[in-house]
Amino acid sequence: MNTPKTPMPPQQPGKPGQDQMLWLFVLGLVALTFLLTQQPTTPGATVTAPYSEVKTLIRNGDVREVTLEERAIVATLQDQRADGASRVRAITPAQPDPALVPLLENMNITVTAEAPRAPSTLIWFLPWILIIAFYFWLSRRMMGGIGGGMGGGLGGMGDFLSGRASKPTKLTSKVTFADVAGQDEAKREVSELVEFLRDPDRFQRVGATVPHGVLLMGPPGTGKTLLARALAGEAGVPFFSTSGSEFVEMFVGVGAGRVRKMFEAARKQAPAIIFIDELDSIGRTRGTGLGGGHDEREQTLNQILAELDGFSAREAVVVLAATNRPDVLDPALLRPGRFDRHVTLSLPDKDARRAILNVHIKGLPLHRDVDLDQVAAGTPGFSGADLKNLLNEAAITAARRRGGDITPADLDEARDKVMMGTVRTLAIQPDERHRLAVHEAGHTAAAFYAPGGDPIYKVTIIPRGRSLGSTHMLPAHDRHTLSEAYLRAQLVTLLAGRAAEKLLLGSVSSGADDDIRRATALARSMVARWGMDAEIGPVDLRESEDHPFLGQQIAQPRSFSDETATRVDQAVMALLHDAETKAVALIEEHRDEISCLVARLEAEETLDLTAIRACLDPDTTILPISRNRT
Ligand code: ATP
Repeated sequence: MNTPKTPMPPQQPGKPGQDQMLWLFVLGLVALTFLLTQQPTTPGATVTAPYSEVKTLIRNGDVREVTLEERAIVATLQDQRADGASRVRAITPAQPDPALVPLLENMNITVTAEAPRAPSTLIWFLPWILIIAFYFWLSRRMMGGIGGGMGGGLGGMGDFLSGRASKPTKLTSKVTFADVAGQDEAKREVSELVEFLRDPDRFQRVGATVPHGVLLMGPPGTGKTLLARALAGEAGVPFFSTSGSEFVEMFVGVGAGRVRKMFEAARKQAPAIIFIDELDSIGRTRGTGLGGGHDEREQTLNQILAELDGFSAREAVVVLAATNRPDVLDPALLRPGRFDRHVTLSLPDKDARRAILNVHIKGLPLHRDVDLDQVAAGTPGFSGADLKNLLNEAAITAARRRGGDITPADLDEARDKVMMGTVRTLAIQPDERHRLAVHEAGHTAAAFYAPGGDPIYKVTIIPRGRSLGSTHMLPAHDRHTLSEAYLRAQLVTLLAGRAAEKLLLGSVSSGADDDIRRATALARSMVARWGMDAEIGPVDLRESEDHPFLGQQIAQPRSFSDETATRVDQAVMALLHDAETKAVALIEEHRDEISCLVARLEAEETLDLTAIRACLDPDTTILPISRNRT
């Protein structure tokens, strides 16, 4: 979810003079190094000349003294020349000249040899100095952009080491528990802390130990950050907010330093709340990675553990942390005395969705035809953040239409957008469009006729997001368990698009790709997890685990034989083939009604329940669930 958690403070412009100072320092260093690496110059006028000319001068007795350098010879003349030169300098040949020393001896010339000059030690450090100077400059810039408004007081190195979290976040508006709709259990769990934070002395007097660490877990967008802010709002205490990823730095020890500073600052302002979002980015199980960055993360995690351990019962600082990956957290974080109170926020049910819509609808102009119960019913699986986004999208659509109020059609459009993405403009050939209509009509007919599934709501062949067309069901209520009859009906509906293509067009296409994938995954779960194959029975034969909050599959090692795996495969195939046979029979039986649906779909692109019924069940007059688009 990419909803911003904390309002971004305004970007603080770099302090005038500090950048210039840094660059002046770097330039000074470069100049100094340049000077130090130059060969020393002997005082007086020196001219350069070819090596042969210097030898001639020596032979002619014009030279009084010679200085031999590593790759040069400097001859001091007996008398100053007419051009004012008193020394002549020449580069010596790469191969040493064996005749030079005897010549100098013959001519009785004083010879001084100079040892080769070792380059200044500064030269070795210069690249490092430049790299470090550049790094500080860059991180200062970044800090200025992200948290300048909060940590700006320290400036430069101070900012870098403390991060932005050592100053409390100014909550722009007071958030209370009333702003967190649904999530009653979670609110109840954290509301105890309000009393403690408001009047810690009362608890301390009777020696009560109140939990210092509370872990908020749940799928993205369910209101973990919102709940933490509401707790701060209710208790009226300073709120130190940060994200685990802000502690991950390039230099080992910097993250740990920031943690220390943040806890120190919170202790000073106690009673206070520290909130660490994305705890998993810092709190993963230790010893599972490689490299220096890993050391930095471990040190930071160790510091958090040390700070949590360091709380005395008298300190009124509550540390809230949020994650949607509790499975990867280091067990040390969850031990008693640390994040030992766990509060789970789940995806809202229908009533909670209605309540969340109520919170976010405030101030939005709603058309009187809008039925928010209907919107709540049609958005199973939506998080609080999704619902907020849906209302915002609907408001944008209404504004674009210049139509004033938000209509049911705006909300319907917004729902499709949030679920599947924006409408795509695609050049679709007529025969492909016809196949698309046949495919979707197949799904629609199966959802309509196959007993036990969710009621059909609408069908469309307008491409959106990754899909070319879609059939929408509207569950009458949220389902917490799935019956075998319901799942078998789902399989028939999923495979009916392909069955319709096969029967009405005489061939199948790649359009069933996602249907087959989903049907196979469902059938595998029925066999391997839910014991719905009579022969295999109630045995857990799964090879992956559902992630509790993210809906992903996590692979796990297989704990059964190849023979059992083959039996599972066969049972999965049997379920799918059975569903396909039923789908084909259903399409065959309702061929005429489906042809009517195909024709209307090609003409109108989107059909609501009234239009669908007109083709599939012409004798029945029913009240439409959805309203026509305006
Ligand atoms: P993530 O795991 O992605 O960090 P999160 O669980 O911290 O998400 P929030 O950032 O708190 O979710 O929620 C995002 C926005 O969604 C909130 O600012 C709020 O506007 C809305 N929202 C979420 N849940 C609720 C709720 N229960 N009641 C009202 N609004 C909600």
